[in-house]
Amino acid sequence: MEEKKPKRKLKPSRIVLLVLMLVVFMFGGVGLGYVVGAIKNMPEWDPSKLNASETTFIYDSKGELVSRLHYVENREKVKLSRMPDHLKNAFLATEDDKFYDHPGFRIDAIARAVIANIVGGWGSEGGSTITIQLVNHAFFNQSKEKKLERKIQELILAVQMERKYTKDEILEMYLNRIYFDGGAYGVQAAAEYYFGKKVEDLELGESAMLAGLAKGPARYSPYRHPEAAKDRQATVLDRMVTCGYITEAQAKQAKDEPFKLVKKEESANKNAYQYFIDYVFEEGVELLEKSGIENPEQAMYHDGLRIFTTMDSKIQKTAEDIYAQDKYFPPSKNGQIVQSAIAVVNPKNGEIKALVGGRNVDQKRSFNRATDAKRQPGSSFKPIAVYAPALIKGFGPGTVLEDSPVTYTIGGTNWTPRNYNNQYLGPITMRTAVQLSVNTYAVKMLDIIGPAEGLKFAQSMGISTLVSKGAKNDVNLSLALGGLTHGVTPLEMAAAYAVFANQGVYNKPFAISKITDKDGQIIYEHRPEQRVVMDPQSAYLMTHLLQSVMVPPGTGAKAAIGRPAAGKTGTTNDDTNAWFVGYTPDFAAAVWMGYDNQNMSMKNVYGGNYPGPIWKAVMTKAHEGLPVRSFPVPAGLTEATVCKVSGKLSNGVCPAENLVKEIFAQGKVPTEVCSMHVQAEICAESGLLATVHCPTRITEVFVKRSETGPPPGEPIEDDLPW
Ligand SMILES: [Zn+2]
Ligand SMILES: [Zn+2]
Repeated sequence: MEEKKPKRKLKPSRIVLLVLMLVVFMFGGVGLGYVVGAIKNMPEWDPSKLNASETTFIYDSKGELVSRLHYVENREKVKLSRMPDHLKNAFLATEDDKFYDHPGFRIDAIARAVIANIVGGWGSEGGSTITIQLVNHAFFNQSKEKKLERKIQELILAVQMERKYTKDEILEMYLNRIYFDGGAYGVQAAAEYYFGKKVEDLELGESAMLAGLAKGPARYSPYRHPEAAKDRQATVLDRMVTCGYITEAQAKQAKDEPFKLVKKEESANKNAYQYFIDYVFEEGVELLEKSGIENPEQAMYHDGLRIFTTMDSKIQKTAEDIYAQDKYFPPSKNGQIVQSAIAVVNPKNGEIKALVGGRNVDQKRSFNRATDAKRQPGSSFKPIAVYAPALIKGFGPGTVLEDSPVTYTIGGTNWTPRNYNNQYLGPITMRTAVQLSVNTYAVKMLDIIGPAEGLKFAQSMGISTLVSKGAKNDVNLSLALGGLTHGVTPLEMAAAYAVFANQGVYNKPFAISKITDKDGQIIYEHRPEQRVVMDPQSAYLMTHLLQSVMVPPGTGAKAAIGRPAAGKTGTTNDDTNAWFVGYTPDFAAAVWMGYDNQNMSMKNVYGGNYPGPIWKAVMTKAHEGLPVRSFPVPAGLTEATVCKVSGKLSNGVCPAENLVKEIFAQGKVPTEVCSMHVQAEICAESGLLATVHCPTRITEVFVKRSETGPPPGEPIEDDLPW
């Protein structure tokens, strides 16, 4: 690095002076104060600062220390000459395409930043030169808020840097210092961490992926968010084409190659609380970023923060133990294991109590299926998209619809929703439909209330992945059966069901309650994000319906935990995804199961037979030592006996076995009497309606049907399934 610096027309120090004058000019006396203050409080020019780092501590909900985030000194400095050109070019193209031409800063970027500051706070690092980024990483505490003063200091230090070092030296320092998630600093550590390679062996696609991480090492990590990493890599490759470093063909070839990531060493598999801590890290990054901290990932690792979480160590540990036992899961197929994830929240406030994002930790930073896997929810979506909004509209557990085959025309094609086993039960109540997970009932009900209504309600429950516009969207009847464009995450499912447990009030789930710096100064404190999404009566009716699922012949009977609980199974076509989502007054939890490969189906795995028992095992342990609580009953509900074939009051001939005690919102008890049960005389010999010629007549009760189904007048048999 001994080559001479190229000459420049204008001395950098002059330009800095100009900029400072510009600031003074624009802000008058205030600006002058800023500049003077900035220079007075300047961090020392102290290259030894590069290594200063303090451990971040993470605590559970009881304040017990559960983890430390270490900055691991695995930085191995490498000479620029060892780095492949495409690696350097990937960073230059994405972070600073004028790096070799500017004096350490860019006037246009500063002008933009000044304007942005006037409009509303300093934004991200976008627009910062590589020199400024290096100065920023090296000399400043990342968890301090970004102020104008600091921008000025960065500028001055950047110019000092450019005077002292050549461009190549600065680029080399930058590439050896940049943070790549997982405690890896510098391109050499990153090449090892992600690809198990020496930096000189990196391929174009790998270099592009690493360059993409500069924008957000956790957000674009291929371990954490494979899709986001791939998208980001494509953006970098496109930038490289634009800058003329590579051809379109080279970019395309690199895009087509999947990442070949290194797997985690077996010995390190047993990281307790790993999935929860990983999520805490991501939420922390997001929170710090929102509070104006520029390099939140580094702040999380570097600045000795104290992070207080909502994790219940006992529940988390229980869930991890269960996920480590093969007996809870169906056997593997073709060398692929059936994956699963669970999220547990406190319905009263949204605290995330436990998260397990997979059965094993097979990569250094594992994909967290509990928070990031979007999978089809199947019937577990019915309460969210159909039944809760129907209850709000005044339908009730006693509302009767005909369970019979039905065909809809959607976008020009016919769609016939089928029941499991192709069995149809005739007229049934909402309670039976929920208990036995009857598809036709749910679809017909969504048709009545309208798919747009169902979708809007699901969104109000915090389901963020629904598509409401565009060519392919979720505003259609398959929403009723959880046939979605993108699927849903277990965490959002748990938080949505928690609304039913919490009298209709939604709480946004969260994992971090407080962050302080090492001196106890509060950097962030959680404030509840609540909203009322349904009335308490409808929420209770939903709970009452979902309690029926937990008793035979309910589809979730295997998940019963010996105390009041409500839940729903979900199983998608070909057993590709299986769910159990349920709650008590104390906890709500969602369990998903399936292969990572969404085209692979599990055989004979349903929401009730594998996810249900996992839910039961975790929830049983979670409730240990807690008093048995019933769901609180709000005022405004009443009971009445109705005929379950018509959903109306008995007309006096309704058979006793068809009369059920049902719960209603006040004012919603039917006033009409059953018109479906009729009494008539039949001929004992022929079994047909009696005529004047008939010698022996007997009186029987018939069901008269107005809708499709078996022909009217058929005598009731004892063994009908409803
Ligand atoms: Zn009746
Ligand atoms: Zn006769």
